[in-house]
Amino acid sequence: MILPIVNYGHPALRQKGARVESVTAELRQLIDDMLETMYAAAGIGLAAQQVGRALELTVIDVRAATDRPSTLERDGKPADIGAFMPLVLINPALRPHGEPDTGPEGCLSFPGIYADITRPARVDVVTTTPGGERIEFSAGGLLSRVVQHEVDHLNGILFIDRMTRSVKAGLQPELDALQQATKAALKAR
Ligand code: ZN
Repeated sequence: MILPIVNYGHPALRQKGARVESVTAELRQLIDDMLETMYAAAGIGLAAQQVGRALELTVIDVRAATDRPSTLERDGKPADIGAFMPLVLINPALRPHGEPDTGPEGCLSFPGIYADITRPARVDVVTTTPGGERIEFSAGGLLSRVVQHEVDHLNGILFIDRMTRSVKAGLQPELDALQQATKAALKAR
């Protein structure tokens, strides 16, 4: 089932996710629905907060972004990204590292708004899979950026919080309009 994606101004986007204690049938359904919703919106990542659920859960699939390379290492060796997708992160812990890397980002909760964001180039991840397995991997390139963007959502952090002051100032009229439209729609319900 395709779920409604909430936009900037919805309080769920500022909520820190609760830890997922067990992968229930309900959670499996939510994961399936989040994947379906992400693909339908042509996104490459979607966090639970973006469908109104404050949980430490996000789904990612970078296969569609063929113009922006990703790297993946498991056990210190390069691994096949395609075989690792879609990626479902439950209770992930990150260690971003490496040189700062600046690249364009968008967000399904900010339709039509894009900006350059600087983040560490690489990230080490420890996470739980839907099968309950604890796995570790390292990512670079676009996958590193998407993992950091999505896990920010799980902590109530948005990409506008990572923009330089001048970039955010340039987008402020659009951000204000989106926030007001979201709040007005919530009030009208
Ligand atoms: Zn986002």
